[in-house]
Amino acid sequence: MTEIAVTSRKKNWSNWAGNQRVKGVSQFAPSSEFEIQQIVRFAVDHNKRVKAVGSGHSFTGIALAEEVLVDLSNYDEVVAVDKQAMTITVQSGIQLTKLNLILHENGLAMQNLGDIAYQTIAGAISTSTHGTGIKFTGIANQICAMRLVLADSTVVECSTILNPELFHCARVGLGAVGLISTVTIRVVSAFNLSVIEEPMRVDELLAKLDHHVESNDHFEFFWVPHTEWALTKRNNRTNQPPRPMSKFSHWYSKILMENYAFGAVCKLGRAIPFLIPKLAKALPSSGRVEYCDSSYKVFASKRIVRFYEMEYAIPREACEEALNRVRRMVEDSGFFLNFPVEVRFTAPDEIPLSTASNRESAYIAVHIYKGMNYVPYFKEVESIMNSYQGRPHWGKLHFQTAETLAQRYPQWDSFQAVRNSVDPLRVFSNRYIETVLGK
Ligand SMILES: Cc1cc2nc3c(=O)[nH]c(=O)nc-3n(C[C@H](O)[C@H](O)[C@H](O)COP(=O)(O)OP(=O)(O)OC[C@H]3O[C@@H](n4cnc5c(N)ncnc54)[C@H](O)[C@@H]3O)c2cc1C
Repeated sequence: MTEIAVTSRKKNWSNWAGNQRVKGVSQFAPSSEFEIQQIVRFAVDHNKRVKAVGSGHSFTGIALAEEVLVDLSNYDEVVAVDKQAMTITVQSGIQLTKLNLILHENGLAMQNLGDIAYQTIAGAISTSTHGTGIKFTGIANQICAMRLVLADSTVVECSTILNPELFHCARVGLGAVGLISTVTIRVVSAFNLSVIEEPMRVDELLAKLDHHVESNDHFEFFWVPHTEWALTKRNNRTNQPPRPMSKFSHWYSKILMENYAFGAVCKLGRAIPFLIPKLAKALPSSGRVEYCDSSYKVFASKRIVRFYEMEYAIPREACEEALNRVRRMVEDSGFFLNFPVEVRFTAPDEIPLSTASNRESAYIAVHIYKGMNYVPYFKEVESIMNSYQGRPHWGKLHFQTAETLAQRYPQWDSFQAVRNSVDPLRVFSNRYIETVLGK
């Protein structure tokens, strides 16, 4: 049996949304690759399964450690910045907030980001986290090399040249391929984004959807259920200097309105659901906002209001029809919905389990305020997304299984072959992984 220097503590764990919990699980917090190797060897010797945990921002049980939890928050340093190659190598537990600041100090930036930056880099790529922009892919496709600790506790380097099949799978590996030690990210020079946020009538927006998606670097919108309105965001790369919102406007619009006031409205709606349609009508009245700021500040926002979320990637060309079906379903169903439906777009990539694997994608995301029953609404939306071969975000709620998912990914079998070869004993599995990838 392996003796290890790093000690474990039995602690409770829960995710950000509070819907995934485990009591008294053995938790290790390594601060070196060697310690990670030791923990994996120790777990295997004791016949235990291992789960690495990022910042717990997945809504599914993907990060739920049943036996051994590896908390990587002490393993979050920058290993190297290479301005010539335009890469940065980091330890896997680094949070995107910290990474973004370090990149900015070096005149660099991530090519694209999602709408928060609390995730760790390893957590973000493992679930195929993405932002918006039809010319840009998700975060995993910005990775150009990795070091992985495999189930036999060896360390493997991989990239498009070294162990390329392992590399392709491990970039969106759901934590089921190996424990990511470091990642090397392809970055770009720091840039500013010029932002226009304004409400539009949703029918008018959909009539010109291709134009909006193609004429903006990063286009997204939020349709407000029970209304004919959508809140749109158009972010475009610019050489202009920053013109940030004033401190007061930022606090008013991003903190008070998007978080505290919105949270209060959601709370009221949860207590008295039939008020929700009336409350929703207040949302689109917010006017047009224009500003310009560093990309990382624009992409990521503060999220204080807690919720449950499901998000589906569908072929981009199906977006209008699918969203209209969701709108009709909401009208017919009598659901009272206090969160907007978010719609985003990305370019295809070639990563086997990326939600944008081999197709240009539209993402439709639905949310329910924490503490409300999300099941009926999410199931209705999912049945619409099923007719477009929808692929659920791996970190967001859904009701699929390996049987229903296999035919939605052209490279499913090659992923399974790699998983079988590197983790035949399923050291990196848990109940969620068994459901979506099989035992
Ligand atoms: C408020 C909010 C906003 C969000 N916005 C977006 C968005 O804009 N776009 C989007 O696509 N998603 C979004 N998400 C989802 C989120 O990006 C993903 O769920 C992401 O995986 C969370 O990262 P994490 O660090 O919390 O990882 P966790 O949820 O802790 O873990 C996710 C997976 O990564 C694995 N993992 C973590 N570290 C390692 C490692 N070192 N080696 C191997 N596997 C590892 C875990 O085992 C697990 O399988 C959002 C979630 C929330 C709560």
